[in-house]
Amino acid sequence: MNKCSDFCRKLSDYLDRELSDNECMLIEEHLRECPPCAIIYQGLEKTVTLCGSGISDEIPEQVKIRLLRFLRNRCCND
Ligand SMILES: [Zn+2]
Repeated sequence: MNKCSDFCRKLSDYLDRELSDNECMLIEEHLRECPPCAIIYQGLEKTVTLCGSGISDEIPEQVKIRLLRFLRNRCCND
């Protein structure tokens, strides 16, 4: 999995910690190899942290949809 589109598809599951160890490794590998995705991921992670604020570790669905749409427009052209 070294394509940005695959990365985008898996990212919300990664943030929800629903991926296997192996899939997490692939995500982290892509973050190292692809600076644009790493930047987007950092923004997303910050938003998730703000959304959670200790009340819940679930990302609100609306926030997730909006962010993933943004992410796809930015980096997934294939
Ligand atoms: Zn990428």
